[in-house]
Amino acid sequence: MLQTHNADVLVAGQGAAAFAAALYAARYQLSTVIASESFGGETAIGGLIENYPGTPDIDGFDLMLKFKEQVDKLEVPTISRNLEAVEPNGDRFLCTLEGGDIVDAGSVILCVGRERRTLGLPMESEWTGKGVSYCSTCDAPLYRNKEAAAVVGGGNAATEGAILLARYAKHVYLIYRGDELWRPEPIQLKVLSQIPNIRVLLNTNVTELIGTDLAGLTGIRISRPMDDDEKIEIHAEQTEPMNKSREDDHGKDVINLDGIFIEAGADPRLEIPNMLGLDINEETDEVHVDRGQRTSMPGIYAAGDLTDGTSLKQTVTAASQGAIAALSAYGYVLAGEHHYEAA
Ligand SMILES: Cc1cc2nc3c(=O)[nH]c(=O)nc-3n(C[C@H](O)[C@H](O)[C@H](O)COP(=O)(O)OP(=O)(O)OC[C@H]3O[C@@H](n4cnc5c(N)ncnc54)[C@H](O)[C@@H]3O)c2cc1C
Repeated sequence: MLQTHNADVLVAGQGAAAFAAALYAARYQLSTVIASESFGGETAIGGLIENYPGTPDIDGFDLMLKFKEQVDKLEVPTISRNLEAVEPNGDRFLCTLEGGDIVDAGSVILCVGRERRTLGLPMESEWTGKGVSYCSTCDAPLYRNKEAAAVVGGGNAATEGAILLARYAKHVYLIYRGDELWRPEPIQLKVLSQIPNIRVLLNTNVTELIGTDLAGLTGIRISRPMDDDEKIEIHAEQTEPMNKSREDDHGKDVINLDGIFIEAGADPRLEIPNMLGLDINEETDEVHVDRGQRTSMPGIYAAGDLTDGTSLKQTVTAASQGAIAALSAYGYVLAGEHHYEAA
């Protein structure tokens, strides 16, 4: 039977932003409900998390369990259904969940994150965390002193990722299908051109991920043979030239790699923000929020990777935005306050 629930705050999501928002909202004595089908968000599939303050070297799934445990202590109910629609109803919101249940909420905090773009290649999801990564900020340090890694993409995140990765791995390929890199800042292009252990391969697609179930990713095949000047020069002290074994075996379209970073972008989940007509940042396609995580609609807040609150998309920033959103929701539920600062 369909049910209607009442709450001061509905939090959509079960990632870092959502659990932090629910924790703070519940501690402000707001009746709070979490609605989301799947647990943990991107942090839970991120593998080893080394940069969440206070918990060095923790598996992302375990970190999210800790977030949830803390919220469970405050008896915040979780409804395992995604949010499908939000309809303003006076100064409240009728929130429809998958399956038809309704939450009549005084305010809504959207923490629904982003959809990562993938290469769509066989074994890509199986080897995620085993040589395939989608976050160079997060995982580049794992490649300290590794022989070779690649970044796929042509935008800012990809160039930044290659520059960062080159501080750790001995050799880095930046692979992009276009004939020039797409919108990197000029300063980044300059830095990129000055780093000797980065090679940029343009007009190139990754056509195959190579590896084994046990080892994960060990290399890639690209859409064309590499020219000699595209191969990274081998330092004199290196006895085993990079790619040698595979070149001998398979030709010049195979590159041996310890890891590949797919930085092809991510699409913020905008179905509900668009339904509500919220302001969207035209440059980034993210929900525009102000310093209080307020959106352009009174009573609706957003936090985490969905928003343009920061370009640093990390667990720690998502969590802090969730906390801030809860404070703003508290002001709205108690006193109708909502002083949105447009972009
Ligand atoms: C491979 C990888 C490794 C990473 N490693 C690190 C790291 O080492 N350190 C670090 O700080 N960060 C890391 N990150 C980044 C970090 O995981 C994200 O910045 C963080 O998860 C963002 O949190 P969020 O709550 O905004 O979104 P998410 O974690 O993406 O959570 C979104 C939640 O919303 C849910 N949802 C989706 N649609 C709906 C809907 N309609 N209704 C209700 N719920 C919905 C999802 O199921 C999910 O629970 C990594 C990311 C990836 C992909």
